[in-house]
Amino acid sequence: MKLEETSCPLCGTAGGEFFHEEAGFRYVSCTSCGLVYMNPRPAAGELLGHYQTYLPVAGEEIEAWRISMTPLFAKSARMIEEMVRGPGRILDVGCGFGFFPRLMADRGWEAVGLEISGFGADFAEGRLGVTVARATLKEAGFAPGSFDAVTAFYVIEHLPDPLAACLEAARILKPGGVLLLRWPHSAPLVKWTSRFNLNLGLMHAPSHLCQFSPRSVAALLERSGFVRVRTVVGGWTWPANPLWRLAGVGGGILAEALGRISGGRLLLPGVSKTTTAVKP
Ligand SMILES: [Zn+2]
Repeated sequence: MKLEETSCPLCGTAGGEFFHEEAGFRYVSCTSCGLVYMNPRPAAGELLGHYQTYLPVAGEEIEAWRISMTPLFAKSARMIEEMVRGPGRILDVGCGFGFFPRLMADRGWEAVGLEISGFGADFAEGRLGVTVARATLKEAGFAPGSFDAVTAFYVIEHLPDPLAACLEAARILKPGGVLLLRWPHSAPLVKWTSRFNLNLGLMHAPSHLCQFSPRSVAALLERSGFVRVRTVVGGWTWPANPLWRLAGVGGGILAEALGRISGGRLLLPGVSKTTTAVKP
């Protein structure tokens, strides 16, 4: 895999302090904004082939994924409907098998999915009847102000230029429209486990190029012109593996409870987060 040096994808500062190494890939922490990102990283285009085989293909694995994501998708749908008067038009970026756009279509929304994996797009279209554009957000070139909501579940950490993607989301949203991002908050756990020389592969190298925190996601969205940025635990997943299920649900419940008790100030590190923001 061809690697190239990069500067901070959020603020452009070059360099960065060493943070962690995983599977031969190096992560640094930006000395200016604190974002943790891979540097050097796979050159542009190197990862496109990787994503053709990224999604599981076995029926039972797809079903396990669907079950795992069901509580999170239901909660996210409710969050969106509390923020924008629906049903309107929604775009799910990186929709995978299309379960979220299917759910929103069932709730009366006009839902479109974006997916670069041919297998994922085929499944979403053929099996779930979801409208899918096989393109990146930039390539799709949607009309300005054409969506009431844009979602991206576990996508921003994969993007070489998350700022460009959020600017594009802002462009295609109507004023008052909502962006919902779901992202893994892995860096604090990685820091903690590496003290014990544990390397659990939590950075998902080379897939995850950035490791966000509530602070860096807020900076990303404010820089993209969004307002009312809010990060919450926002539900939990239901993984097939009982141990991960215990971690996922237990961590999710604990994190949600702490967030609620503290009035949203305490966001348990390590547990995935949902961030919503509004286009002014
Ligand atoms: Zn930075």
